[in-house]
Amino acid sequence: MRRTLIPDLVLDTYGARSSVGVTIEDGRIVEVRPATQGERLPGVALAPGFVNDHSHAFQRGLRGAVERIVPSRPHDDFWTWRERMYALANGLSPDTVREASRRCFEEMLSTGYTSVTEFHYVHHRPDGTPYEDPNALAKAVVLAAEDAGIRLLLLPVAYARGGLPRFRDASVRAFLRRVDDLRAWSEGRPLVEVGIAAHSVRAVPRGWLEEIGGYAKERDLPLHIHADEQQREIEECLSEHGVRPVELLAQAGFLGPDTTIIHATHAGDGELDLLAEHGASVCACPTTEGNLGDGFLPAEGILARGIRLSVGSDSHVRIDPFEELREIETNARRLAGRRNVLLGENETSPTPYLLRAGWGRDGIEPGDAADLVEIDPALADVEPRNLPSALVFGAGAGGVVRTWVDGRHAPDDNPGSSTFSAGL
Ligand SMILES: [Zn+2]
Repeated sequence: MRRTLIPDLVLDTYGARSSVGVTIEDGRIVEVRPATQGERLPGVALAPGFVNDHSHAFQRGLRGAVERIVPSRPHDDFWTWRERMYALANGLSPDTVREASRRCFEEMLSTGYTSVTEFHYVHHRPDGTPYEDPNALAKAVVLAAEDAGIRLLLLPVAYARGGLPRFRDASVRAFLRRVDDLRAWSEGRPLVEVGIAAHSVRAVPRGWLEEIGGYAKERDLPLHIHADEQQREIEECLSEHGVRPVELLAQAGFLGPDTTIIHATHAGDGELDLLAEHGASVCACPTTEGNLGDGFLPAEGILARGIRLSVGSDSHVRIDPFEELREIETNARRLAGRRNVLLGENETSPTPYLLRAGWGRDGIEPGDAADLVEIDPALADVEPRNLPSALVFGAGAGGVVRTWVDGRHAPDDNPGSSTFSAGL
């Protein structure tokens, strides 16, 4: 079915235009041009949907539960938080994974995210033995995304050592066999793509990194890994391998244009140079990194090298794409002691750079998936050319009226309805 939407305004990274029609056919944008005939969307601004590039959906169950000190652990940090997260992960079943993921994905849609990259590492029964279907939990995540109506890039995550028994596969061969099966099973599911990931250089040895990197490159798959999130991770990598995490990834053939480094919080200049050289990307998760006390990514160094940036809500302490983007610039301002820090080449505002990180594109373009977000009319009294900046710096997910995925309204168009019905 072909239809043309005519909102009051169509947004891109640089401003807003009126009297523009967005024509959709078979889930894709086919035309964006001046139009007078079509379905009016009165009082809303239409923008690309936000891409949530890093999620552990089940961790939403920790929201509010970990914001106090436990007397036995007066020093609370990433590592003590991780013990609480492990306790949650150990109690999951296929049914609760599906239910928790669905709630999380519905909340994402209500905040303007239209696609999510799920970094999925809880694979087996609590004692480590596989389920009858070894991909039972991964498939529960897929079904949850389909229940919610969100686009999903599912990343089965390799985990070789440490963590919980249920995270680990016996060998990289066994892991890749599961990935093969999952890719075959997901074919013909229009909202689902399967990529691949390694958890971290802590959890995955060099031999596995080499095999997984090779597997992804042969098949042009998106390839993700957590790296440089913690100082301790870097110290352990130096003592095991004599190099820093991103240097190890470069040596192992893990870096390329389809590779995304999650966090890169403590990446040094040499590591950023390597990412730029290989065309790899960085995904920042500022609300989670702030909540865990991890630190703040080297945003100016990433921008200066032209490294592609995306954002993720990661642990879901908060789900709000506007807040993730704002945090990147406002943290950079706090550190630099000045304003308008993250300026792309020949740009006078950080807004285009930030929105590009959130949307993965500059605006609604022919050929793109029809994944869209309608923004609250209350912002329509801002001067159109200032509207993108008003969104990034002066708005939040409450301004999202409705999302479209694959050319259709997301089923749950009632913002906030599931926000606090958390839990498993
Ligand atoms: Zn993560």
